[in-house]
Amino acid sequence: MKQFHNFINGEYVATGKTFENRAPVNNQVIGLVHEAGQAEVDAAVAAAHAAMKGEWGRMSVVKRTELMHAVADEINRRFDDFLEAELADTGKPRGLASHIDIPRGAANFKVFADIVKNAPTESFQMTTPDGGTAVSYAVRSPLGVVAVVCPWNLPLLLMTWKVGPALACGNTVIVKPSEETPATATLLGEVMNAVGVPKGVYQVLHGFGPGSAGEFLTKHPGVNGITFTGETRTGEAIMAAAARGVRPVSFELGGKNAGIVFADADFDKAVAGITRSAFENCGQVCLGTERVYVQRPIFDKFVKALKDSAEALKVGPSDEPGVNLGPLISAEHKAKVLGYYAKAKAEGATVVTGGGTPTMAGEFAEGHFVQPTIWTDLPETSSVVREEVFGPCCHIAPFDTEEEVIALANATDYGLATSVWTQNLGTAHRMGAAIEVGLCWINSWFLRDLRTAFGGSKSSGIGREGGVHSLEFYTELRNVMVKL
Ligand code: NAD
Repeated sequence: MKQFHNFINGEYVATGKTFENRAPVNNQVIGLVHEAGQAEVDAAVAAAHAAMKGEWGRMSVVKRTELMHAVADEINRRFDDFLEAELADTGKPRGLASHIDIPRGAANFKVFADIVKNAPTESFQMTTPDGGTAVSYAVRSPLGVVAVVCPWNLPLLLMTWKVGPALACGNTVIVKPSEETPATATLLGEVMNAVGVPKGVYQVLHGFGPGSAGEFLTKHPGVNGITFTGETRTGEAIMAAAARGVRPVSFELGGKNAGIVFADADFDKAVAGITRSAFENCGQVCLGTERVYVQRPIFDKFVKALKDSAEALKVGPSDEPGVNLGPLISAEHKAKVLGYYAKAKAEGATVVTGGGTPTMAGEFAEGHFVQPTIWTDLPETSSVVREEVFGPCCHIAPFDTEEEVIALANATDYGLATSVWTQNLGTAHRMGAAIEVGLCWINSWFLRDLRTAFGGSKSSGIGREGGVHSLEFYTELRNVMVKL
């Protein structure tokens, strides 16, 4: 049986206290994960501080950048190992993981290494009251030991999205991967050792949240900052933990994102775009569209086209040819999503398509597969329209005017992303200004330029990462003023 150990101070550490890792495609046990307790958390924090005081802390930016490139190259060299690990943990389609998850996992190290190497700092000159001159300049130093707490939906991609910039800035990181997806974070330890990243710079602790590694790590006074991706409610618990010691947090949280289709949109592109945004990764993308608003003249035609498009999607395990949708991550998550499917019916939805589980053959009958699902006719107050389901589903409602759809889209506590479909330039820019989100896509979705700011407003997050914005969290800015 495969064992997933903690990675502490450059070594794989067993704890004797294990929990099962199950494959979402057939619910079979694929490994045992060694849960870290307080002692392992203490050891990792101590090793991380020792690394900051050692070779890593003294390393030049150029050398650090080279090491980050070496990490990316080694991930690419071991591409198949990472791919198999991610597929086993998530069951997502092979094409998706091989085109997005693993390449982006490697790219996150290169992109941020280059951004950090080339980032300027500000400088000002002023006249002093005595007629002299003073020059100020800013110096960036690393924050220190950064806890990186990760979700399960894009395990390697979202983890490296934080580890990449954190290490490029000279911090040490302690990663707490999701209990559902321990594999790629563990494997990355081998990469770090292979390319010569010093001990204690990258560490991994396995376990759960409350009463386990997640809570012990985020409460640890030796952790200097916490970067977290996950549910808004978990963010609240971590923020409370971070309050002790007034430690900074960077949060990428949940969403209930609107997709908005105007009557003048390129119809086919809008259907294809909303199909992706609602169903990709089996709907387990924080940026995904669960509320679709379509302008009335094309409403019926759009509902019919999205139905056809959803019904053309193939649900199945990673390697079945033509598969578009894998399983949900766990039995627990499947129960949650099916709970919302039942609630939608109870709240009076018209089920346009789906609403249940597909029939799967053989071992896959035990997998966590659900049907892509579309509803109409629910009131905006319905829980399915208000709460994040995190499954392959959306509700479609009609709208008449721009003002109306802006109000509908903004009537949520969340503020992560939106995708707007229109060919009118004026409408596009007005929507860009009016929708209260961190990310507004026009005629696209999940199109990423890693130099741009990424994050959510309202309950969807705190702070922005991406490009130079990542430096704001992962470094402390010191102003040095020199009186000449
Ligand atoms: P989750 O909040 O349940 O878990 C995330 C991580 O937090 C896990 O590693 C978990 O063990 C840990 N954790 C849980 N409770 C904790 C506690 N009290 N203290 C410390 N750690 C704790 O989230 P999930 O179910 O893994 O992921 C799905 C959620 O993530 C969705 O809400 C989704 O929208 C969100 N998400 C957001 C983004 C974004 O960029 N905004 C990206 C991906 C996912």
